[in-house]
Amino acid sequence: MATKAALAEKQRAYYQRHKAATNERVRVYRERYKDAYTAYQSAYREHRRTTYRESPDMREQRLAAGRAWYQEHREEIAVKGRAYRRLPHVRERRRAYNLRPDVLARRREKAHVERQARRAKARGVRIRPRDIYERDAWRCGVCHRRIDPRLRWPDLKSASLDHIMPLAQGGKHVLANLQAAHLYCNSRKTDRGPGQLRLIS
Ligand SMILES: [Zn+2]
Repeated sequence: MATKAALAEKQRAYYQRHKAATNERVRVYRERYKDAYTAYQSAYREHRRTTYRESPDMREQRLAAGRAWYQEHREEIAVKGRAYRRLPHVRERRRAYNLRPDVLARRREKAHVERQARRAKARGVRIRPRDIYERDAWRCGVCHRRIDPRLRWPDLKSASLDHIMPLAQGGKHVLANLQAAHLYCNSRKTDRGPGQLRLIS
């Protein structure tokens, strides 16, 4: 184990020393074989699709096998994961990630939505996305174009719940502050970040 760790450390140090050259080589390689790789991928996807069409049980069997394997090796995977996360450079990377303003904002937003949803539920009010989409007649509150009800997340044109006044700016998770929006339009709005109020017509 010690030698394995030492080897990993050596490789990492080597990579750090040759980072620029290695990345450039990888970039050139990817660029050169881009078409071949895309062709290979679509051929493989097609092959899998055909196989699964011919034997519909196979897909389910494979998924079940994967789940069973995971259950069997759970402990091992957890131990390995913990050891990995304790490595100094991984620790450092994770710490930096956890401090990124956009990551923090996303987590705060999520916690806020969950809290408000829990409170609403406790009050006996349940907000069902579909009710809001129907109320808004499947029209996007951001771009005002139609939303196709058949599209599903993560399709960028699928319906999503948008807070008119962002939660980060004190908006509430209540019917009056919610509208239907394309997933794309919704995330675009989030990207603009708090501090930019959208005009509500
Ligand atoms: Zn839209």
